[in-house]
Amino acid sequence: MKIYKFGGASIATPAAMKNLLSIIKNADIPLVIVVSAFGKTTNALEQIAAAANDGDKDKARELLLHIELSHNNYALELLGEEGFQQLLPRLQECYTEIQWAIDDGGIQSKDYVYDQIVCVGELLSTTLFSEYLRSEGLHNKWLDARDMIRTDSIYRDPNVDLELSGTLTRNIILPALQEVKYIVTQGFIGCTDENNSTTLGREGSDYSAALFAYMLDAVSVTIWKDVKGLYNADPRLFPNAVQIDEITYIEVIEMAYFGAQVIHPKTIKPLENKNIPLYVKCFLDESIKGTCIKKEIDAYQYPPIIVVKKNQVLLNIRSRDLSFITDDSISKIYNTFAAHQIKINLMQNSAINLRLGVTYEAERLKKLVDVLSRDHIVTLDKDVEILTIRHYTNNILEDVMRGKLRLLEQKTPNTIRVVVQ
Ligand code: ASP
Ligand code: MG
Repeated sequence: MKIYKFGGASIATPAAMKNLLSIIKNADIPLVIVVSAFGKTTNALEQIAAAANDGDKDKARELLLHIELSHNNYALELLGEEGFQQLLPRLQECYTEIQWAIDDGGIQSKDYVYDQIVCVGELLSTTLFSEYLRSEGLHNKWLDARDMIRTDSIYRDPNVDLELSGTLTRNIILPALQEVKYIVTQGFIGCTDENNSTTLGREGSDYSAALFAYMLDAVSVTIWKDVKGLYNADPRLFPNAVQIDEITYIEVIEMAYFGAQVIHPKTIKPLENKNIPLYVKCFLDESIKGTCIKKEIDAYQYPPIIVVKKNQVLLNIRSRDLSFITDDSISKIYNTFAAHQIKINLMQNSAINLRLGVTYEAERLKKLVDVLSRDHIVTLDKDVEILTIRHYTNNILEDVMRGKLRLLEQKTPNTIRVVVQ
């Protein structure tokens, strides 16, 4: 069994969805197809949730009309008038789910309302995808991922109960595969014990695909994207970026940690645990080889891998009474960061100074600095970037640093990290 994951860009229009047919027909079966919401639907649903949570229900309902219109038009173009009319009741059930969640705005918690609304994007896209495949003669079963992926009730950032989800998933998918060779289900969504929907974090469909692979002992996962594969740097920032053929799980985890927006960071662990390879391929041209992410790769010389984390702040923290930075004080400072939900991306200390790189978030940062300032003198360098280069060479370093002010530098034989302005 293989898992294919299609992201929002690959199904942004009916024409784009139709282009995926040959990819699916060429795939080995059985195939579990994990799908995101269309294009920018999740962003649009987030706006509905925000309006509902702000108490502006009229605005939320008006925004919902746009979602209805765009999905109805999509269905019409994809399936024709008759197909659309047949499917309409199922689409309307989805719209009603959003309607109910809008009514909950202001009554239930914001994160709860968000999840009940935002999860519907994937329900809609998969309903259309499944119906389209059926109309092309590919018998398939549409399954609700919320019957399989069980989470706790931390809305918007839930923990998945892997064991229970595994049992549920196998109990549903394995019998279904006796009848059909294709399963269509949603990425990004799950469900609590109380039958409430949860979402797994933005771009979480990659993670869902990895979970299904883990639970079903799949042979491989393929994520279909609009790029040729993984690159050694963001091609928008570095025009000379090159595509990487093979890369290890660990290297990708490090890239994601340092800020590369390659793949949802939670995706790798389930795959690594069962040694399931992950392919990143281009849906625009199936013949391009793409990138394979796996446990070990044959003697392959990595190009320097460059990751730029933008929108950072460098904090300098010094105790007011010049006392040393000790294990105890570091641990207290770390706890203060955790309490303000600010993640530390880089740290360096000297006898009396602690320097920390964090992502800039005005409101949280201000509160944090207020608390820290009771016992410390805190200064900030704003508008900085954290640049990480793995497998660096001196030439690359010179190239990348040209014209930049280095505020802090950390070096190991393999990796260099520099805070620059
Ligand atoms: N549709 C969700 C998002 O846009 C999940 C995903 O695309 O992976 O974040
Ligand atoms: Mg997406």
